[in-house]
Amino acid sequence: MHISSLLSDEHVGSLVKTRGWVYRWRESGPLVFIIVRDSTNIIQAIVERGKLSDDDFETAKKLTIESSIELEGNLVKEKKAPTGYEIHVSKLTAFNIAEKFPITKDKSDEFLLDIRHLWLRSREMTATLKIRETIFETSREYFKEKGYHEVHTPMFVGAAVEGGSTLFEVPYFGEKAYLTQSSQFYLEAFIYSLEKVYTISPSFRAEKSRTRRHLTEFSHLEAESAWMSNQEMMTFEEEMIVRIASDLLDKRKDELSILKRDPEKLKNIETPFYRYTYEKIIDLGRSKGMDLPDIVDLGEKEEREITEGFDKPLFVYNFPTSLKPFYHRPDPDDPAHVLCHDMLAPEGYGEIIGGGERIWNKDELLRRISENGLNTDDYGWYIDLRRFGSVPHSGFGLGMDRVLTWIAGLEHIKNAVPFPRTIRRLRP
Ligand code: ATP
Ligand code: MG
Repeated sequence: MHISSLLSDEHVGSLVKTRGWVYRWRESGPLVFIIVRDSTNIIQAIVERGKLSDDDFETAKKLTIESSIELEGNLVKEKKAPTGYEIHVSKLTAFNIAEKFPITKDKSDEFLLDIRHLWLRSREMTATLKIRETIFETSREYFKEKGYHEVHTPMFVGAAVEGGSTLFEVPYFGEKAYLTQSSQFYLEAFIYSLEKVYTISPSFRAEKSRTRRHLTEFSHLEAESAWMSNQEMMTFEEEMIVRIASDLLDKRKDELSILKRDPEKLKNIETPFYRYTYEKIIDLGRSKGMDLPDIVDLGEKEEREITEGFDKPLFVYNFPTSLKPFYHRPDPDDPAHVLCHDMLAPEGYGEIIGGGERIWNKDELLRRISENGLNTDDYGWYIDLRRFGSVPHSGFGLGMDRVLTWIAGLEHIKNAVPFPRTIRRLRP
């Protein structure tokens, strides 16, 4: 039985069987104390000479941290045990006596990254992975409820979506291909049949800057919807984030507490989120003493300072047209601004979502491609989408690893991913 199902009065006094890995081990005279862990929890087991075969007792004495075992015994309620119950062992089998485990207390972050394949078993990582799973699960549920279809897009692509400076080039049978930076353009192609679509897939960006929020491969949740405006999309996104936070409070209380994340921080995440125009956010930054020109790309540092005192996310919307890629739709009443938004997480975490309305008029798109010094020939099929029944539409891209980093209160995005990829790390 899994350990979590043993931790109840129901089984007290009966013979139980469980298996897992040695988490702690200590010997004291005729007794061996073992704390066993499995995917669900930990439980203490007591092995006493004479209460099981001599062979089994010798096995208990040989156990090391991370050895894999199966044990059988009587379940007892015990206040002093770490999870309130313990097993008095009558039978013990070892599958593997582990070699000396390299992870001990006070190892450096770099070392823990070098042996990530072993660090995955830590309680912190296990809790993080479960929270991560719930974020993915809730997002999918939310999209389904709202009538979105899940679709899949290629990872090998022939052209850039974001800038060329973060493109990964790969040889492709004598041609050049790239790893996708975003699935947005492909998602736009689906809306003419499915109307509302989303995908969760990796995006790749050759990020050279070292910040606590950039990976070179990250989990990107992207959506596009026909007929939706910028402001409507913002409402959709904030509801989704609130839903993620409240599901975590329901389902992942224990894991949040293992990570020492204060649940109050998640309770604060309620609609409506703050909405500031780009100009208002510049004013806000200046009121905090930041030295900001009128038009400036807000990076990690600026967003950290701006969001530090906030208790829930905020939107910055309608950025100056010059700051954003060509596909953003200029406001018809104010073409110096585009109808777009970023969602910034509070407590200094910064951008977690970027989205907005896409240009849906063909001539306007052609003009913006040229104004950006790009070649319309490179965007043939994307322009085509504006030639056959084009409709107003909006979309967004959300970094799942960034949402997890913030919601779980992690220090660095690397801690949110089982096998992180950065400029300096490709292994394990
Ligand atoms: P930044 O300014 O932080 O580099 P961006 O403006 O390049 O972000 P977008 O192109 O809008 O980001 O991508 C959409 C979302 O994808 C971002 O809001 C973020 O959550 C996530 N994202 C972008 N780049 C990365 C990255 N290198 N690592 C992890 N997540 C990322
Ligand atoms: Mg970027």
